[in-house]
Amino acid sequence: FLQNMMTQEQELLPLLKKYFGYDSFKPNQLSIIEDALQQKDVLAIMPTGGGKSLCYQLTALALEGTAIVISPLIALMKDQVDVLKANGIAAEYYNSSQSVETQQEILGKLERGELKLFYVAPESLGFFNNILGNLKISLFAVDEAHCISSWGHDFRPAYTQLGGLKRRFSNIPFMALTATADKTTQDDIVDQLSIPNANRHLASFNRPNLYLDVKPAQDRIKHILEFLEERLESGIIYCLSRKSTEAIAEKLRNAGFKAKAYHAGMSSEERSLVQEEFITDKVPIIAATIAFGMGIDKSNVRWVIHYNLPKNIEGYYQEIGRGGRDGLPAHALLFYSFADVAQLRRFITQSENSDVEYAKLERMQQFAEALSCRRIALLNYFGEQVTQGCGNCDICTAPPAYFDATVLAQKVCSGVARLKEREPMGMVIDVLRGAKNAQVLEKGYQHIKTYGAVTDVAWLDLQQYVIQMLNQGILEINFREGARIGLTPLANEVLFSGKKIQLAVLQKAVEKKKAPSKS
Ligand code: ADP
Ligand code: ZN
Repeated sequence: FLQNMMTQEQELLPLLKKYFGYDSFKPNQLSIIEDALQQKDVLAIMPTGGGKSLCYQLTALALEGTAIVISPLIALMKDQVDVLKANGIAAEYYNSSQSVETQQEILGKLERGELKLFYVAPESLGFFNNILGNLKISLFAVDEAHCISSWGHDFRPAYTQLGGLKRRFSNIPFMALTATADKTTQDDIVDQLSIPNANRHLASFNRPNLYLDVKPAQDRIKHILEFLEERLESGIIYCLSRKSTEAIAEKLRNAGFKAKAYHAGMSSEERSLVQEEFITDKVPIIAATIAFGMGIDKSNVRWVIHYNLPKNIEGYYQEIGRGGRDGLPAHALLFYSFADVAQLRRFITQSENSDVEYAKLERMQQFAEALSCRRIALLNYFGEQVTQGCGNCDICTAPPAYFDATVLAQKVCSGVARLKEREPMGMVIDVLRGAKNAQVLEKGYQHIKTYGAVTDVAWLDLQQYVIQMLNQGILEINFREGARIGLTPLANEVLFSGKKIQLAVLQKAVEKKKAPSKS
């Protein structure tokens, strides 16, 4: 049977060589393709440049019929199709910018089954409703799949049209691909596409060469100047406002550094010039809004500073990811202040997802306040289970005092489990502390077994411990459903395998202990 044969790596390698000229697969490509060839739905999360396109392209070549590729960007489609055609692969794309003749010609090819790959924008999909039913379709590939999720960072309403496809074509494998999706967005993608059993292939988000550093936002300019004295190389300073990019660039110039500002308020000529000067190292330092960096391929960015707190961890991760692309050490420094949190909260409008945006901002803040390895917190946020400290962040290099909190962690996990992972942090804490407020009593939580299991820890302290457990990847937040607290696989180890947990001693507790000796 052709398909079973084709699942063999040996069968795929000649195709890889013949059509793309490559001798081996990049990480995860083979397993993603194999899944699709076995008719399994897949969700592939791979960093930019990881080789996502090849996953569905090679699958399409290995299967009979036509692969339908849904892709949001017309320019990108055209580029891909041009390359495929140049490699001798029957591929076309369809969009409204084409002439009627071209469209007719392409439709003819599609209907005669002459295409291995057919690219279409989600907006145009409706037009193919009837045609699709008459085709022999090998695969549906959904590129930039995070666009289907309103919890992601780039929601496109047209993507919601894809929701019904799987139900209609239940026998055809779906491959959803994206470079950026936190755990919540991943869950939403599989829900929205109706592929609940999709195998998730998560390429590692880890960038071990990035040193992760967080400092309180005091005397920022002074800190930056000191920081730069030691590092004359290239870097980016991300700021919240256009005005501050200009102010900071000027302060740096006054201190003798070559620095320029970049923001969306500048003309496109000015912006291209600054970008060019940065890439060619003429101007090594750019103070920019988050408009800067997309599509800039500069491998030797040695540091990224966040002058202000980013609004969520996805943004933070993308921005620091512009540092150290060459794999050499790079420094990511985040300045954290509560004033920024307040400012960002004001920016969050009463949009449909404002609750989620608040919750994600809060999670960002918790990351900034982390008392355990930053990388563990970051990677777990993206669904990557990591428990080993990285040794390359500010916390790992100067850890606070920890205590054995295994029993406390067990109680918290058990409390979350008893609440069926359906309650936000405040309620979890209330129930653990045996609160008697109306919300608790109305839901009857005074009857569950873990009610009042942690009465010996003050409310705010317990909150700090729960946040630490989030940062350690023991607990997670489901942003889609009222920021409910959930358990991760690590929590199961805590509950059932006696996994030992260390939590940081809270500052206040230390002070309290010290207090008597002072008096
Ligand atoms: P993504 O969409 O994940 O950002 P692309 O699909 O554009 O990545 O691939 C990035 C680059 O990697 C492309 O130049 C592509 O040709 C190349 N590439 C893909 N697969 C392989 C492979 N197996 N070996 C070598 N290069 C590859
Ligand atoms: Zn660390």
